[in-house]
Amino acid sequence: MEFEGLKAIVTGGASGIGAAVAAQLNKRGATVAVLDLDPGQAASGLLALRCDVSDDQSVRAAVEKSATDLGGLDIIVNNAGIGAQGTIESNDDPEWHRVFDINVLGMVRVSRAALPYLRRSAHASIVNTCSVAAIAGIPERALYSASKGAVLSLTLAMAADHLAAGIRVNCVSPGTADTPWIGRLLSNAPDPTAERSALEARQPHGRLVTPEEVAAAVCYLASPLAGSTTGTNLAVDGGMQGLRLRSTQG
Ligand code: NAD
Repeated sequence: MEFEGLKAIVTGGASGIGAAVAAQLNKRGATVAVLDLDPGQAASGLLALRCDVSDDQSVRAAVEKSATDLGGLDIIVNNAGIGAQGTIESNDDPEWHRVFDINVLGMVRVSRAALPYLRRSAHASIVNTCSVAAIAGIPERALYSASKGAVLSLTLAMAADHLAAGIRVNCVSPGTADTPWIGRLLSNAPDPTAERSALEARQPHGRLVTPEEVAAAVCYLASPLAGSTTGTNLAVDGGMQGLRLRSTQG
């Protein structure tokens, strides 16, 4: 129970990866506030608050309420995010602004509002949900990949800026994870079964990543046991980012 007594915010914690993170943190002793556009889907036992990470007022109100109700803040998991498909020709300027506003500035707003509380914590940690798309060139994901590349750079810069205050900042980079997000993507594909097989085959371990596997990585980085780990990007992608396999062994 290494999170006993610690207070955490998980954005996008009502679904998929965020829901698994909120559940694991809670199970391992943390009290957890879920900040989500759709908090009604959050698991019971968590403080579920409606928050739009693209709206600074909404973020400030939800972070204040979390800190007041939980009695402080130690851990911020910036996980809320949206997807975008296509090449640079596929999305217009407002869509580029919208995705960056949620995926990148959302993390800035939540972290900025939480910093005064984190500075008072003995175990302060921020974990951002990045993506393998930040490092690997994936076709038809120009806007999404650019936003996650920004998350990676932001994570490193924040780790440097807040080290002296004892605040660690890291990110996780999942491969394709089996969440409602991917369910939506598959249901829009002409052949969902073939699309799922293609996504599974893209990952060296031959299957989708589970939200629980990503949550375990987030919990590692968030834990006081990882007190010397900051400015790290932890891949949870079945080897997609780092391995170059032969098609046959030998
Ligand atoms: P999901 O769609 O299942 O969950 C996302 C949650 O974020 C939802 O509950 C949604 O309501 C919330 N959300 C969306 N916009 C919001 C906003 N403006 N303010 C507050 N909450 C908002 O998605 P997921 O697959 O669990 O993805 C979570 C994170 O993981 C995202 O940052 C995504 O980029 C990243 N990621 C996902 C995958 C994957 O394959 N699923 C892979 C790599 C990275």
